[in-house]
Amino acid sequence: MNRAIFLDRDGTINVDVEYVHNIEDLRFEEGAIEGLRLLQNLREYKLIIITGQSGIGRGYYTEDDYHRFMDEMYRQFRLNGIVIDGEYFCPHHPEKGKGIYRIDCECRKPKIGMLEQAAREFGIDLSKSWVIGDKTDDIEMGRIAGCRTVLVRTGKGGKDGNFSITPNYTADNLLDAARYIFENSQR
Ligand SMILES: [Mg+2]
Ligand SMILES: [Zn+2]
Repeated sequence: MNRAIFLDRDGTINVDVEYVHNIEDLRFEEGAIEGLRLLQNLREYKLIIITGQSGIGRGYYTEDDYHRFMDEMYRQFRLNGIVIDGEYFCPHHPEKGKGIYRIDCECRKPKIGMLEQAAREFGIDLSKSWVIGDKTDDIEMGRIAGCRTVLVRTGKGGKDGNFSITPNYTADNLLDAARYIFENSQR
């Protein structure tokens, strides 16, 4: 079985301007690139982005816009020697979604549909995996899935108040999170 580090995107990797989707708005959080580089050295872990993108469902931007933004992010990752193994996004919203996007899906955080799909597709043992995110929804999702969890103080920094959470660790940023995982992953 493989292991994974599941990475939230907005507020964890890149700066979260509301419903960020324009390439010009792509800025990395402090320590994000260094953190990803460090995590990359943990060869036994897949690096997988798990991101809620209800802005698509709400009609603020399209799936094409989302993919263009990701293409630019991956281009900058490549320049820094970072390879992401997988990426899952949830475009839905149960009330605010338009048309096909208005469903009570299984992938909206803190539901664990995206983690389960990744586990199937990559053969991942969730109990030996980690979730890193800036919202309580990320940490709650990780808890439900049986992963270990790291909250980062960047982005929302856990102040969304959606869930009462107890992460395994609270990190200043993605680099701090990566150092913690580096020291606490069973080799
Ligand atoms: Mg986030
Ligand atoms: Zn969904």
